[in-house]
Amino acid sequence: MNAYLKPVPTPSKISAPFWAAARRHKLVLQRCERCRAFIYYPRPRCPECLDDRLTWEEATGRGTVYSFTVVRRAASRAFSDAPYILAIVELEEGPHITTNILAAPEAVRIGMKVTAYFDDVTPECTLVKFKPADA
Ligand SMILES: [Zn+2]
Repeated sequence: MNAYLKPVPTPSKISAPFWAAARRHKLVLQRCERCRAFIYYPRPRCPECLDDRLTWEEATGRGTVYSFTVVRRAASRAFSDAPYILAIVELEEGPHITTNILAAPEAVRIGMKVTAYFDDVTPECTLVKFKPADA
């Protein structure tokens, strides 16, 4: 197995439950106990009502491509897997997540249905990516 060269996230006290769930191949989102909004990225207060009573709920893992670009030039040797797809996925629960789509660049379209895919990039880190729902 080749060493994974790209930078990996450093979980914070607030984001640690998200990354721990990803290790278990679960996508979880914060949810506000007061206004019931789903929240992503992890943060200490609800962006809708500012309440700090947030819990974690498992998400469906389903979403649609909100926007994307194809990265064709590697920014460094770590990104030599270009071309790859950098995308914003609108989750079924509402929040948008910046991610990668695992598909051929010419196959991706705005509005296409995608499902979460859990990429165990290191023994400690799993990244949440997406693949076409019909794949
Ligand atoms: Zn709220």
